[in-house]
Amino acid sequence: MSQEIDVALVNVTKKFGDLVAVDNVSFEVPKGSFFSILGPSGSGKTTLLRMIAGFEVPTSGDIYIGGQRVNDVPPNKRPCNMVFQRLALFPMMNVLDNVTFGLRRRGGMSKDEMERLAKDALARVGLQGLEKRKINQLSGGQQQRVALARSLVLEPTVLLLDEPLGSLDLKLRQSMKLELKHLQARTGTTFLYITHDQTIALAMSDTVAVINHGKIEQIAPPEELYRRPATHFVASFVGENNKLTDGRVIGFQQDDVVQVDIAGIPMVGRAGEELSVGDPVDLFIRPEMISLRLGKHENGILGKVSEINFDGSHSLVVVDLLDANRPVSVNVKIQHTEDAPDVHVGDTVTISWHWNAANAFHPVDQSHIEVEV
Ligand code: ATP
Repeated sequence: MSQEIDVALVNVTKKFGDLVAVDNVSFEVPKGSFFSILGPSGSGKTTLLRMIAGFEVPTSGDIYIGGQRVNDVPPNKRPCNMVFQRLALFPMMNVLDNVTFGLRRRGGMSKDEMERLAKDALARVGLQGLEKRKINQLSGGQQQRVALARSLVLEPTVLLLDEPLGSLDLKLRQSMKLELKHLQARTGTTFLYITHDQTIALAMSDTVAVINHGKIEQIAPPEELYRRPATHFVASFVGENNKLTDGRVIGFQQDDVVQVDIAGIPMVGRAGEELSVGDPVDLFIRPEMISLRLGKHENGILGKVSEINFDGSHSLVVVDLLDANRPVSVNVKIQHTEDAPDVHVGDTVTISWHWNAANAFHPVDQSHIEVEV
C-alpha cells in the first residue's frame, strides 16, 4: 500500500540576493507522522517552514500540501497552521476565546458549535476546566498547550511548529516534549517541527531531516540517524561523539568495515561513505558504545585514565591512549550499574568497541564555516 503524503517539497530553492538559504531541497512527510527538521542556527529551517506556510515564495521548485500544489496559494488558504516560539496568544482574553479565535475569523459556525469544538480541543491538550482563565494566569507549559489547542481546533492537514518548546525551561521542555509526542499520536495530525535541539528531534520524531547550509544531509528515523550517520556533519551534530582526527584508511575487513590508523594505533569502524586505502579520515565513536576493562587485555587499546566526571546515572571517563604517537584522548561513558568497573584516575585500562559503534568519514574543510557571534 502506498503511503499518503501530506507535505512534499520538490527541488525547492530559496535565494535572498546572492545567499542561497535553501538549496534544492526535496522531502516527503507521510500523513499522520511527526517529522522534524533539525539544523544549526542559520541553516535554513525557518525559511523552509515559512515557504510551506506561504509567508515566503520559493525561488524555484514546488510545494505540495495534501496533494495540492500550493506555490500560488496565499497563507490563509493553505491547509496548515503554524505554532510559533513566541506563542502570540492574547493575554487579556480567556483561554476559550483564544482557542475560538481562528474559528470566529473563519466564520460560518454558531457560537455553541465553536465553543464545543474549542472545549474538545482543550480537553485533548489536558486543559479542561481552565476555559475561563486569562492567559496571564497560566504557567508557561499551560500557555503552550493553549497555543496547540488553538491550532488543532482548526483541524489543519499539517501543523507547522517553529521551536515552540524553545522558550521553556529545561524541566518543562523535557515533560512537554513527551506530551507533544503523545498528543500528536492521539490526534493523528501531521506535525512538521523545526528545531536546533537534537534531543527534542530525536525524542519526538518518526523521521528527522538534518539540514546544513540549506542542504539536506540525511533523512532518517532517529535511531538510524544516531547509529548510521550518512555524513561527517550528521556524525558531528547529532548526539555526543568522540571525533578522532588525522586518521588514514589502512584496510578493509569487509566492504563497509574499515581499518583506520589513528596516531599509529589501528582501529576499526564502519565506512560512513565510500573510502579507499590511503584516504584521510576522521573516526567518530559514541562514548556509551565503548567498553572499558581494568588492566591490560588482548584485543583492545591500552590507555590511562586522566579524568573522571561524575554525572548522576553515569560517569564520563577520559582515557589517554598509551600507544599513540601523539596525544589522543577518548571519552568513555560508564553507566553506574552493579557490575560497572571500579575505575580511578591513574588506572591502566583497555578500551574496545564493536566496528559498527564507530563511523569513518573523509574530513571536511571547515575553513569556510562562519563563526557565529
Ligand atoms: P535559526 O535557528 O537561527 O532561526 P534557521 O535555520 O531558521 O536559523 P533561517 O532563518 O532560515 O535559518 O536563515 C537561513 C539563512 O537565510 C540565514 O543566513 C539568514 O541570514 C538568511 N535569511 C533569512 N531570511 C532572510 C531575509 N528575509 N533576507 C535575507 N536573508 C535572509
